[in-house]
Amino acid sequence: MGVDPLQLKQALEQGVRIEGRITVLTGAGISAESGIPTFRGPEGYWTVGSVHYQPEQISNYAMFCRQPSEVWKWFLYRRGVCSAAEPNPGHLALAEMEGLLADRFTLITQNVDGLHLRAGNGLERTLQIHGNLNYMRCDKSCSDEAFLIPEALPAKGRGEEITPTEWDLLICPHCGSLTRPHVLLFDECYDETHYRFETALRVAAETSLLIVVGTEGATTLPNHIVECALGSGCTIIDVNVQRNRFSESAEASPQGLFIEGAASVVLTQVLTQLRAVLT
Ligand SMILES: [Zn+2]
Repeated sequence: MGVDPLQLKQALEQGVRIEGRITVLTGAGISAESGIPTFRGPEGYWTVGSVHYQPEQISNYAMFCRQPSEVWKWFLYRRGVCSAAEPNPGHLALAEMEGLLADRFTLITQNVDGLHLRAGNGLERTLQIHGNLNYMRCDKSCSDEAFLIPEALPAKGRGEEITPTEWDLLICPHCGSLTRPHVLLFDECYDETHYRFETALRVAAETSLLIVVGTEGATTLPNHIVECALGSGCTIIDVNVQRNRFSESAEASPQGLFIEGAASVVLTQVLTQLRAVLT
């Protein structure tokens, strides 16, 4: 449990040597500390009439085509849960890390809750590989632009209906078609245009230090990212409340290590050590 400051310092020194780049990959673990459920558990179930849907059935493009109102209701409910949460010290440490490193820093996140942007990380250096549920985009793809869901559309409770006035806010401002959530759905593939998939892999291959936080690789892209980073000989630090499939990759990398602990605590320590290494 916890971190050996000397080991951490060595890993950071290895990572930032010769103007190296630092990439941070985050998953649900960091958001859990802000009280955001994974929506893979009971919070993710959705009931329409007498039918109960699993998260992968409701967060699904085929379902959106059949019942856009149910899919939007589910996402607006989740958006409400996330907007009531606050970024925690882990998120804030990553925003400060970007401030220190500027173009040498990239954040790749699987989280769609938008907390990294709210903590102060910049949109340009934050690759939201699963999207962001505060955004919508044209379902007819008249452009690739993602729009912030208007503030006038209030947070929705579970199962709450969308009024006709609110539907008007979910219309594409360019062509008047219905929009869809700007989130990668379970039956869709990663892509560069909307989710910067190729950029994420390229950044991982070019990074000299990868910090993996609160993810256990339930989806394929995080695994590719860690493989890319390991293949290019970069240092990997894995931060998690328990050992997982990435812990061994981290320990197999040069000066890499697994740090057992909460993201909010460990990332604050990493930030302190990083400041010392950079000065
Ligand atoms: Zn449109």
